Amino acid sequence: MKILVINAGSSSIKYQLYNMKDESVLASGRVERIGTESAIVTHEPAAGPGVREVSGILDHVTAVRRVLDLLLHREHGVVASIAEIEAVGHRVVHGGETFKASVLVDDEVKRSIRDLFDLAPLHNPAALMGINAVEQNMPNMPQAVVFDTAFHQTMPRHAYLYPIPMALYRRHKIRRYGFHGTSHFYVSERAAEMIGRPIAELKMITCHIGNGASCTAIQGGKSIDTSMGLTPLEGLMMGTRSGDIDPAVVPFVMSKEELTLGEVNSMLNKHSGMLAISGFSGDMREIVEAMEDGDRNAKLAFDMFCYRLRKYVGAYAAAMNGLDVLVFTAGIGENSAHVRKAVCEGLTFLGVQLDETANQRHSKDARFISAPDSRVKVLVVPTNEELIIARDTFRLVSERKAAGDSPVSRGQ
Ligand code: AMP
Repeated sequence: MKILVINAGSSSIKYQLYNMKDESVLASGRVERIGTESAIVTHEPAAGPGVREVSGILDHVTAVRRVLDLLLHREHGVVASIAEIEAVGHRVVHGGETFKASVLVDDEVKRSIRDLFDLAPLHNPAALMGINAVEQNMPNMPQAVVFDTAFHQTMPRHAYLYPIPMALYRRHKIRRYGFHGTSHFYVSERAAEMIGRPIAELKMITCHIGNGASCTAIQGGKSIDTSMGLTPLEGLMMGTRSGDIDPAVVPFVMSKEELTLGEVNSMLNKHSGMLAISGFSGDMREIVEAMEDGDRNAKLAFDMFCYRLRKYVGAYAAAMNGLDVLVFTAGIGENSAHVRKAVCEGLTFLGVQLDETANQRHSKDARFISAPDSRVKVLVVPTNEELIIARDTFRLVSERKAAGDSPVSRGQ
């Protein structure tokens, strides 16, 4: 069975076509700057030359049509007919409390995604545009949705509620949801597999640290707490996002600097984090380079980033009364030996002992970076959210087939 995975943003679509027989990627690519006369399409088949073209693509429907054209292309294509694609899986950022697992798309599901627009005003409308664009280009194609929040729906009430008036939770569903769930789920399963122990026995902390960053406590394979909250602003310091600050900073800054709500929101999301502290970049690679050249603000940004992450690891070890496994993933987690070292150095009291040589070694594969006698196993696991979307879609469609086309939903 071939499954097309789509991650639709407001002006972009990323895609992968999977062959589920061996979970190989047949082709991948992206359409960027949708809505302009100079949209950029990049298409890379697993074998053979890729394509990069610039053309006018004014909406998501046209973007999906172009993707299908390329998948069928005589020279660059990977399927002979669209009928070879049996289902499409979408990434959706916010599933609220409605979606505790991945589901097949129907009118009710689309309505619920729309009802959650308030909670993810930038992301959910884009995902729905992606779903509708597939529907228009491929009528009757089974589609599934996989939510970034679903994995965290196992958090207990004491972890997901905020200590603010309960009426706000009841009326507006203000609570911690958490994000990057598909990534935390994938790397935790992969780490347990590598360790060779059932995940049900393990206490893990997974650090998804890229431009966006979040940390999750996973006990017995279930998310019991995570650092992102109602929105992806809470928690760790990030490239351009502040992460945790005293909420009183918001009214204080608004009054002192005469800022509007929108301006403060933009300050905290786009002009804070490592960018604000370094004064020049929110990109960890550039921060580390400048730090090595003696830039003191870059060093401060780096130190703050690692210190705040280490504090979360300590807090989550306390939340689980122990720690067996620490996992690093995403752009920084997979590539920055500096960050991993700085975080782990302060965690020896928990039983974390890094193997310096293994930590420095570059590899695209999942690997151990803890010393052989380290009580806590430390791993780098490249994330693969698309594979989880493809697997969930495959499972849901197979189950529906087996059940004779009655609607089914299943967890990740
Ligand atoms: P992501 O959002 O997962 O793509 O991660 C992006 C972040 O990973 C950026 O801050 C990059 O600077 C960082 N990153 C990627 N490669 C490296 C590297 N070799 N060393 C340090 N940071 C890196």
